[in-house]
Amino acid sequence: DAVEAAIAQIERVEENVHSFVRIDKEGARKRAEEVQKMINDGTLTGPLAGVPVAIKDNLCTKGVETTCSSKILEGFKPTFTAEAVVNLEKAGAVILGKTNMDEFAMGSTTETSYYGETKNPWNLEHVPGGSSGGSCAAVAAGECAYALGSDTGGSIRQPSSFCGVVGIKPTYGTVSRYGLIAYGSSLDQIGPIAKDVTDCATILETIASHDSKDSTSIARESYDFTEGLVAEVKGMKIGVPRDYFTEGLDPEVKEQILKAVKVLEEKGAVVEEFDLSLVQYAIPAYYVIASAEASSNLSRFDGVKYGYRTSEYEGLHNMYKKTRSEGFGPEVKRRIMLGSFVLSSGYYDAYYLKALRTKALIKKAFDKAFASYDAIIAPAAPTTAPKLGESLSDPLKMYLGDIYTIAVNLAGFPGITIPVGKDSKGLPVGMQIIGDCFQEKKIIRAAYTFE
Ligand code: GLN
Repeated sequence: DAVEAAIAQIERVEENVHSFVRIDKEGARKRAEEVQKMINDGTLTGPLAGVPVAIKDNLCTKGVETTCSSKILEGFKPTFTAEAVVNLEKAGAVILGKTNMDEFAMGSTTETSYYGETKNPWNLEHVPGGSSGGSCAAVAAGECAYALGSDTGGSIRQPSSFCGVVGIKPTYGTVSRYGLIAYGSSLDQIGPIAKDVTDCATILETIASHDSKDSTSIARESYDFTEGLVAEVKGMKIGVPRDYFTEGLDPEVKEQILKAVKVLEEKGAVVEEFDLSLVQYAIPAYYVIASAEASSNLSRFDGVKYGYRTSEYEGLHNMYKKTRSEGFGPEVKRRIMLGSFVLSSGYYDAYYLKALRTKALIKKAFDKAFASYDAIIAPAAPTTAPKLGESLSDPLKMYLGDIYTIAVNLAGFPGITIPVGKDSKGLPVGMQIIGDCFQEKKIIRAAYTFE
């Protein structure tokens, strides 16, 4: 029934929202029947059995086209499935399709997709955020029960904020990146997007695992994230970085978040402001590191092994050049150029090495804060969802919008976004709760207060 309800909703709204790049209704129906049989004969139990899910299109699904919303991967059918998705399948999940995203997860609006933009279900003139905009819009529009996204610099937390849903980026290493097409390998994490904190904790518990196929996967002591679902914040110490609530933050967003902080305080949390001025360097450090890693990761798409190849060419080098010129969109090309530049000899020390040092300093500043606080409160984005078309013309402005999310990736911390209200236009406002490494349960607990 859940699968049929999701399909009915897709038929109702997908034409307007465009959350998906690929939908397999028949495949989902068939799988739902199989799962139902297993539930009936008792071979499959658990909260996710038979529940319909949407998967971001940068997660490999065996035999099913996986494109990262890029032309260059058109027609690419992976020979294996991402570990996080395998974990879901084992739990009886029913995959509805692949969701739209910014091309190779580079962007904050889902407008850089080769397959057209996704719209915000709350107001179709606005963006859903990005890069997991398709996943967040699909959840917000009721086209699936939950979705998987990936977060390199905020791509789960920012669109969750814009779409009024809940999204978690776990501690780096918690969910296997095996089968996630890499953007910035040292920053990328997969995470759940759902309508509430309870669902997100349950899904995270299922997708997280230690995986020898991902060398950065960590064997954690416990994966019982649902233990964090405790409606009690008494005595919890919450830090509010002053530097996150200064100019640049939309007053309406600020107001809603500070209201939510008051709620935590009323429930017995100890709230304190603190200094985190170093975060002003997070954006330049992130864009140097992420672009450097992207330029290396994307070198494998050359028209030989995957997806698209130009139709006419003279010789191998010309084939590479034409395939990449035609296959990548402008934002991806910008990052490849920036990344190649900062890695090139003579500039490596000046940019890349400096960015790595900045990253270490930012981590240290947060570590100091976590010596005193259980969780840190931040916005997820400076504004609510902007109008379609507004951000594309000014990439620098778009990069600046990542100010509240990227430090978390640089340092590997977990972060959750929850909806805390609406602005005067009726668009959702999200609040981010950041935790120390491996402290997901604490941020889930703080978030659960609002459920
Ligand atoms: N907006 C950021 C970027 O474009 C973050 C994207 C992401 O987390 N994948 O890099």
